[in-house]
Amino acid sequence: NEELLRKAEKLSLIGELAAGIAHEIRNPLTSLKGFIQLLSPSLQDNKLYADIMLSELERINFIVSELLVLSKPQNLQIKSLSLVVLLQNVLALLASEANLKNIRFQTSFGKCPNIAGEENQLKQVFINVIKNSIEAISENGEIRISTRMLPNRQVLVRLADNGCGVSEEYIAKLGEPFFTTKEKGTGLGLMISSKIIKDHNGSFQITSKKNKGTVVKITLPIAEDQIGSS
Ligand code: ADP
Ligand code: MG
Repeated sequence: NEELLRKAEKLSLIGELAAGIAHEIRNPLTSLKGFIQLLSPSLQDNKLYADIMLSELERINFIVSELLVLSKPQNLQIKSLSLVVLLQNVLALLASEANLKNIRFQTSFGKCPNIAGEENQLKQVFINVIKNSIEAISENGEIRISTRMLPNRQVLVRLADNGCGVSEEYIAKLGEPFFTTKEKGTGLGLMISSKIIKDHNGSFQITSKKNKGTVVKITLPIAEDQIGSS
């Protein structure tokens, strides 16, 4: 919705700055990691501390790579893509994680034309959103993914889960950087996802009800080469 997009816009400047800093943080992190690994065998009884340091470094590295996505890649390759194939690839990637929790994927892909997009960025968006759904379901849930054509030359992807939902007091915070209710969350997934979709001239909307579930609606423009053929 408008509110999310406005937030994303305000954050894109901060995002670009953050991405620049993230790049600079990478090199010293790598050298820190190397030296801790070198030290580790000589620490003997204190080896546990080295392991903690390494796993904390891993976490910094993870957050930094999430931030890096905010920088506009130089070679943004917008191509005509099959959204259905892309979604199927993402679902295959997440299948084992879902299986572990007995979560079913229910898909209903209406016939839809190719969209205009950057494959890796869009994959990242759907991974973020579907991972959130997996994380929101404690066990035995369902994630429904459907696509359909809209009248305005856009394709709608609807992703719905019957997970824990978001309580009303937090709804406004969705998409704010670093807002997370998870112990190991970064609170960057939704912000990055809505920014990527906005960069694609699409729209990103999330609605949620506590203990009921969450619905994410994403629209993307169809590819130029498809206009008129549908
Ligand atoms: P993270 O997953 O690292 O916490 P996100 O930006 O992906 O960061 O999500 C932010 C917060 O929004 C989550 O911590 C969670 O509280 C809420 N949220 C997002 N998607 C869902 C969902 N499908 N079901 C329930 N809560 C969600
Ligand atoms: Mg997330």
